Amino acid sequence: PPPEPVIIGAEAREMGTAFVIRIAAPPERAEAARLAAERALEAVEAVEAIMSPWIPESPISRVNAAAGGEPVAVPGELLAIVRRALGYSALSDGAFDISFPPLAEAWDLRRRPFVPPDRAAIDAAKALVDWRQIEVDAGASTLRLARRGMRISLGAIAKGYGVDVASEALLAAGFPDHLVSGGGDVRARGHRPGGGPWIAGIQHPRAERGALLGRLRLGDGALATSGDYEKFVIAQGRRYHHIIDPRTGAPARGLQSVSVLAPSAEAADAWATTLFVLGDPRPSDILEGAPEIAALTVDEGGAIWGSPGFLERFEPLAQPP
Ligand code: ADP
Ligand code: MG
Repeated sequence: PPPEPVIIGAEAREMGTAFVIRIAAPPERAEAARLAAERALEAVEAVEAIMSPWIPESPISRVNAAAGGEPVAVPGELLAIVRRALGYSALSDGAFDISFPPLAEAWDLRRRPFVPPDRAAIDAAKALVDWRQIEVDAGASTLRLARRGMRISLGAIAKGYGVDVASEALLAAGFPDHLVSGGGDVRARGHRPGGGPWIAGIQHPRAERGALLGRLRLGDGALATSGDYEKFVIAQGRRYHHIIDPRTGAPARGLQSVSVLAPSAEAADAWATTLFVLGDPRPSDILEGAPEIAALTVDEGGAIWGSPGFLERFEPLAQPP
């Protein structure tokens, strides 16, 4: 019989988070797999160089700096992801909106002591958050933010895209059996050594890190989770977190977390944020219009709900009392 595949791993900090690659490869290709993993991580770095608003000269930073002024020529890859992001805005009626940064700044979670912004500060920021004022000229390959002070950030979608880019690179290098995780957004293809599907854990939103709600058999698919437990501060008994509802101008309400199973990590990432902002503990109507995805929600009271496509792959774990 052919020798059992081995697992080749690589890890690096990319896009502000931990990227992890696992490849199931025949032992004689272990070295090639290691190289492929390095290349895949480099491909993620190339994405970050275009899409990070923290790199001052990145294309997205140039778009932000030019808000209210002239259109900015950008790489096609940036133009394309912005267009896809606008698609999520359209289908969610603005719940997903990459022009959220002025609101995130108003709610600056790092301020100590933390004080929520007042109404005037929220309204001022809200006036700058409007996906309809993101102007895309596909022919000229330019982006323009219509109002001065506007800014965009791909924090809810680019990490998923980066995971997909890494996975495509591994496939192209001849490694069809792999798993890529970027800060918990996971994409799997093929099988793990031994032949079973890759499995991903889903973090319990209120238990300590590493304590799982359950496990999901991935198959060829992607999983992303958005939650109020990643970046938050508690003040006067209330939890303030990093996912903003542009309609209220405040952190989204209604859910502790939502996990989405989708064909790509980008779709899983964007959908998880979208459903989190929409805040519906039973989003069956929305999911009916998006048959390619499945979801699991945990509502404000801790109650768990899953769509049929999610539950059929989900193995819940006994929860501590
Ligand atoms: P995480 O980054 O914790 O994996 P998400 O994928 O849900 O979680 O992304 C949260 C990030 O999305 C925020 O840190 C912020 O960058 C961005 N964001 C916040 N609110 C919105 C929104 N309404 N629409 C689009 N992006 C958002
Ligand atoms: Mg997301």
